[in-house]
Amino acid sequence: MSLKGKVAIVTGGASGIGRACSVRLAADGAAVAVWDLNAEGAEETVAAIEKAGGRAIACVGDAAEPEAVVASAARTRSMLGAPTILVNNAGITSFCRFIDIDEEAWDRMMRVNLKGPFLCTRAVVRDMLDAGWGRIINISSSSAQTGAPAMGHYAASKGGVIGFTKALAMEYAAQGITVNNIPPGFVDTPMLRSSPIDVDAAAAVAPMKRPGRPEDIAAACAYLASEEANYVTGQTLSVNGGRYLV
Ligand code: NAP
Repeated sequence: MSLKGKVAIVTGGASGIGRACSVRLAADGAAVAVWDLNAEGAEETVAAIEKAGGRAIACVGDAAEPEAVVASAARTRSMLGAPTILVNNAGITSFCRFIDIDEEAWDRMMRVNLKGPFLCTRAVVRDMLDAGWGRIINISSSSAQTGAPAMGHYAASKGGVIGFTKALAMEYAAQGITVNNIPPGFVDTPMLRSSPIDVDAAAAVAPMKRPGRPEDIAAACAYLASEEANYVTGQTLSVNGGRYLV
């Protein structure tokens, strides 16, 4: 699946799923801009890509802050060229009984998980329209498909990502831009490990008896970014080891 000549942006590319997507898209030939708050992690991702013979840059900033997003998009354009692949992956989670979710926690979740993809997409969609080709891949969550106790704000933000995906897919279908989302189920990343979830216990009851690997999500991301996926848009590609069957 060659992405040679393409420029990809992966938000939250310093860790977990975002790092795996960055490495995979670069292995498939794209030049990758690794956007993240975490400068050290972003540089580690860049180093891993370069070590494998790929091309990447780090853009450090908040993917949910308008000025930082515009600055990262400009840096990406000037250093790598016009981006036509965007992976909206940066996200946060938290576990909190509904009754204890205050407005600040709700707003923070919506800002990072939902407004972030809006801002990042807005910053680069014109590059895609100019190219007559684009791939937007949103990382949502199976919690928006199944529901999840103590995750009302998180599941709502990710449900918003799925709706956003479908709306944009319809709007840009005739312009060569596809928009899809991947809702991971239970993937072994720093986010999962820092959550209250007992990973071993959850794996024991999962159909495949293991958590997902970041590379499992990255493989789906690479497919959706590829030319082969040119007739796939507005879809939810559930990469979850059979935990939730659509
Ligand atoms: P992760 O290991 O915590 O990586 C997320 C990365 O995003 C971190 O480097 C983080 O930086 C960065 N980030 C957070 N907020 C940001 C912002 N505003 N601007 C720029 N970068 C930001 O998480 P992950 O498990 O790989 O999750 C990636 C995505 O998959 C998220 O959207 C998550 O909701 C979704 N997801 C994950 C799972 C799972 O089981 N792991 C399941 C469903 C959905 P800091 O570390 O500095 O905050």
